[in-house]
Amino acid sequence: MKDCVELLLEWYQEHKRLLPWRVDKDPYHVWISEIMLQQTRIEAVLSYYQRFMKSLPSIQALSEISEDELLKLWEGLGYYSRARNLKKAACIIIDQYHGVFPSTYSDILGLPGIGEYTAGAIASICFQQKEVAVDGNVMRVYCRVMDHDINIKDLKVKKQIANSLKKILPENSGDYNQAIMELGEVICIPSGIPKCHICPLQYHCKAHLNGREALIPRKIQKNEKLEEEYTVFLLKWKQKYAIRKRESGLLKNLWEFPNQTGFFTYEEVKKLYPNCNHIELGITNTHIFTHKKWFMNSYYVEIPFPLDDYLWVSLEEIASTYAIPTAFMPFYQYLKEK
Ligand code: SF4
Repeated sequence: MKDCVELLLEWYQEHKRLLPWRVDKDPYHVWISEIMLQQTRIEAVLSYYQRFMKSLPSIQALSEISEDELLKLWEGLGYYSRARNLKKAACIIIDQYHGVFPSTYSDILGLPGIGEYTAGAIASICFQQKEVAVDGNVMRVYCRVMDHDINIKDLKVKKQIANSLKKILPENSGDYNQAIMELGEVICIPSGIPKCHICPLQYHCKAHLNGREALIPRKIQKNEKLEEEYTVFLLKWKQKYAIRKRESGLLKNLWEFPNQTGFFTYEEVKKLYPNCNHIELGITNTHIFTHKKWFMNSYYVEIPFPLDDYLWVSLEEIASTYAIPTAFMPFYQYLKEK
């Protein structure tokens, strides 16, 4: 890997993508982008990032926003605990660091929602600290260059890779970290065939020289996801629809259409809403979380009076004010098109 440091830096200078958070290396910008980029591709993050910065241009603004408004702004990105942690961390920065983003790795790591990777990225990119930032891209490039057939899901392996990269970190550690990550994203790609013919490391990469690049990293069988079934009730009264806030668990504090576990038959829905004017079968949706898979079907039900348990809002109000998680978005679209 040592022989690759200069090659990576040169390649990065020439080929790096011009991304909005790379313009000024402001820790607030880098922080928000890194959190958004967890589980989400760069292309998808760009518009969210711009919208977020327009509404919340500073740590102060982020610390002052209400949770509902924040979740609305985050709508579509998923993994909403990331947004809540952003606000918590912003409040800590205002209270404990007088509004100035902390500059040491350990202080950054102490903020909610920031793990070793993100702390390393911010410390190296924004404060030129000699810290590594090891994500899946970095591990893949490392294992291929070294032709190591090891399990990258193993935390010990991650630690070992971080330790050995730390030994060869150059002064401009931020550029190096970004270079190896970017190479993993655009050249040494995770799925499909890596683009070795245009890779700056092709004459040093042991896996490529041994013809083994497609075999590394070793594919590990993923755990089965827990499967759950839900019936969603799209209740309409006049021009308003029932929504409610999730009180706990997954997607806590986000808004959803009423639903119950299990698949309901038409007769069961009729029993549930005996006075309804009209019932029809709606759309189905499958939503995949990290550890769960939701199979959702739905019924569209027109009722003559509003039920107390819910908030009754128009579709325009949902769009402007209430954060609906991605799992329920297809039902919102269905109502919009109806
Ligand atoms: S030569 Fe191929 S396998 Fe090796 S780092 Fe480059 S893209 Fe990845």
